[in-house]
Amino acid sequence: MSDHAQDEDYRLEVRAWLAENAAEYAEPREFPEAELVARSKAWIRRKHEAGYSAIAEPVAAGGAGGTSRQAAIFEREEARYHTPTFTGVGIGFAMTMAAIKGHGTAQQYEHFGTLTHRGDITWCQLFSEPAAGSDLAGLRTRAVKDGDNWVVNGQKVWSSWAHHADWGILIARTDPTVAKHKGLTFFLVDMKSPGVEVRPIRQITGKSDFNETFLTDVVIPDANRIGAEGEGWACCMTVLATERGRTRSARAGGDRSGSVRSLVRQAAATPRQGGSALDSRAVRAKLARWYVREQGLKNFGKRLDEQARSGGGFPATVALVKLVSATLLQETHAFLMDLDEYAGAFSSDAADREEVFYQYLWSSAMRIAGGADEVLRNQLAERVLGMPGEMRADKGVPFNELPY
Ligand SMILES: Cc1cc2nc3c(=O)[nH]c(=O)nc-3n(C[C@H](O)[C@H](O)[C@H](O)COP(=O)(O)OP(=O)(O)OC[C@H]3O[C@@H](n4cnc5c(N)ncnc54)[C@H](O)[C@@H]3O)c2cc1C
Repeated sequence: MSDHAQDEDYRLEVRAWLAENAAEYAEPREFPEAELVARSKAWIRRKHEAGYSAIAEPVAAGGAGGTSRQAAIFEREEARYHTPTFTGVGIGFAMTMAAIKGHGTAQQYEHFGTLTHRGDITWCQLFSEPAAGSDLAGLRTRAVKDGDNWVVNGQKVWSSWAHHADWGILIARTDPTVAKHKGLTFFLVDMKSPGVEVRPIRQITGKSDFNETFLTDVVIPDANRIGAEGEGWACCMTVLATERGRTRSARAGGDRSGSVRSLVRQAAATPRQGGSALDSRAVRAKLARWYVREQGLKNFGKRLDEQARSGGGFPATVALVKLVSATLLQETHAFLMDLDEYAGAFSSDAADREEVFYQYLWSSAMRIAGGADEVLRNQLAERVLGMPGEMRADKGVPFNELPY
């Protein structure tokens, strides 16, 4: 049978399974936080039992032992539904697994891969600190070796969904006597360990998706160190490249809410001076420009995914995905707010209007999360275009000799 025929068979099989198992998610639904987490785990479990969780990963690591083509087919078919997606699942499947696979041992990958891909545990990312965001390598959380364990003290911030996470990926300083990037080590921390305290931060949207995380004498077994001591920076780079690559999900584009096609529909339904907002040349020009960007992101993203799946990891150009998609998200949501003004109200449904306002506020956060715009531009300039680097006065200076 040709590859194409095999793919088609697989697609039909997946479609039938989803029709039976994902029917309750055919339409978008809102769930209270705790229910969203429980449903996300249950959905992963159901997929795992049917051989559809982590399709291209080995069975020994809780995957289905399939191919990356099958994984891509399932992802596209699942994107037709609104299956529950708690952020902690994505952090686990994509970012944590990339770090363990790229830098950990086979045993670590099999152990944590199985727990994650089976839907037993979810993850949060404990990187940023009050004085270390863009300059992540300036972090101050300390991990000190004590026999077969490490004792960790410090404070993390902006830890998304840490209040619902079972485990965290943590970067801490293990050697302050060497240059700042060199003295860091990467760990997996059980969020139920004594000494881990998660405090919510209230956001501009009114919600509390992220937190401050305080670590006081938290004990981490050395077995949960990923990569060698002092090589944590390389793990962080793997995590951040993966995070930037997955900003553009399989759900982007198409006909879904927030896609340019859905904006066209909304503009056509918005009355304006005897016609609709779509009669305006300025509106049509904007929509056309966004559609081009959306298609560009989709195709560029596909190429990056293929590269990452074939073992090459994400190249430095992945920064473009995050840069372009976050700006697009913000511009399109500002447009939805404008449409509202054109019509007086584009929707009589107060919940709809609230959702647009919420998404608009949220979109500004996406220009910061996972690397702010300016930092991504610096990276593209230096690592892709080969332009001269920024002045770095702290380059090569031992961390404990820095004046701050
Ligand atoms: C929604 C959201 C979720 C997040 N989730 C997590 C999470 O789960 N875990 C986690 O660890 N962190 C998380 N973060 C933190 C995020 O990674 C940091 O906010 C980000 O790296 C920026 O760091 P900062 O907030 O300290 O800003 P700063 O680094 O202080 O930057 C402030 C401003 O200065 C600019 N700037 C900084 N350095 C330069 C430079 N060299 N050149 C030019 N301009 C510069 C920045 O672009 C920015 O505009 C999240 C953030 C957001 C918004």
